[in-house]
Amino acid sequence: MNPLADLKVDLNSRKLENLYRVRRTLHSSQGVEVNCNGDSLLSFCSNDYLGLASDPRLIKASQKGVSKYGVGSGAAHLISGHSLPHHFLEKELADFLEVERVLLFSTGYMANVGILSSLMSRNDVILQDKLNHASLIDGGLQSSAKLKRYDHLNTKLLEEMLQKSQHKSLIASDGVFSMDGEKAPMKELTDLAQKYDSALLIDDAHGFGVLGEMGKGSVSDSGLPMKKVPIYIATLGKALGTMGAFVAGSEEVIETLIQKARSYIYTTAMPPSLAETTRMSLKIMSSEQWRRDNLYELTIRFREGAKAIGLNLSDSETPIQPLILGDSEKALQWSNKLYDEGILINAIRPPTVPNGSARLRITISAIHKPKHIDFLLAELQKLLET
Ligand SMILES: *Cc1c(COP(=O)(O)O)cnc(C)c1O
Repeated sequence: MNPLADLKVDLNSRKLENLYRVRRTLHSSQGVEVNCNGDSLLSFCSNDYLGLASDPRLIKASQKGVSKYGVGSGAAHLISGHSLPHHFLEKELADFLEVERVLLFSTGYMANVGILSSLMSRNDVILQDKLNHASLIDGGLQSSAKLKRYDHLNTKLLEEMLQKSQHKSLIASDGVFSMDGEKAPMKELTDLAQKYDSALLIDDAHGFGVLGEMGKGSVSDSGLPMKKVPIYIATLGKALGTMGAFVAGSEEVIETLIQKARSYIYTTAMPPSLAETTRMSLKIMSSEQWRRDNLYELTIRFREGAKAIGLNLSDSETPIQPLILGDSEKALQWSNKLYDEGILINAIRPPTVPNGSARLRITISAIHKPKHIDFLLAELQKLLET
């Protein structure tokens, strides 16, 4: 029997359930004003929080990097793909965060899968927030450890699990939840890790560059030293505007990953020019505080405006501002109607978010203008009234 024979039926049922996904093609560079399939739109759905993805200084750094190092890395890091830009970027990230060492991964997804599958063994337990990013969940599934999930943000339940556990455990949480924008209870998580002698992993894909002193992320934002989080992960494709990811940790953690993480060992290194570009991005991200200040002010403007028109937003203080609409059909309708008015926001539907919580995941960027926020609010108000 051929498994491909069922695909058509499956695809059709996705369409009927409003779960079918289509890609929209950008004809322009990433930014707040984009051209999508030929239409000029105002975008509120990228993770380019600081507006760096198309920054002229990064473009220049990339061009210089390509001239010097070529376009491809040619091999995995352990063969001949590791070059000076990777080395410097790792060093600069480690100095910036004041951690022992940093290791680059080609993507955040690969970092999470590589970390959990190489650091955790049979008989260990991974305790995860239920709304953790798919890559943490998949990393847990690929490891031989036992996977347990606690209700979202429920540190009481997490403590009960830790109390009962007879095994070595690791707590894993998003630093900022990718589809909800809430911050993880960092203080409670670090306290619990200490109290129960558990390891702690924070995936700060949406916090690094956005929160904390100089954009140092969620740990700094909570007033904690980095050493409270022995495994800190952040991605470079969001606030930093490039691509890739890194893990920050002790000498032993990093060396173990180099020896054992299969998604590190068996894959081509990111292009050196991209590492060069990210070095420039790190400089700009950390020194241009106005970007984070803008982001914060625009987020407040959006939240206050939303409240004034009676929009029911969730409790997020970050630039991720989900508008939960419930069913997938409604989320799609709203997304399509906004598109017709010149606003790009995708409908996020199950299984990316739990059933019954389809939403518009609105994200704000430092390079939005107050008038952009006001325009979005006016269009949302029209939708509320129909
Ligand atoms: C985006 C994201 C990742 C994946 O990072 P990529 O570099 O895009 O693969 C991992 N964790 C979280 C929380 C994310 O939001």
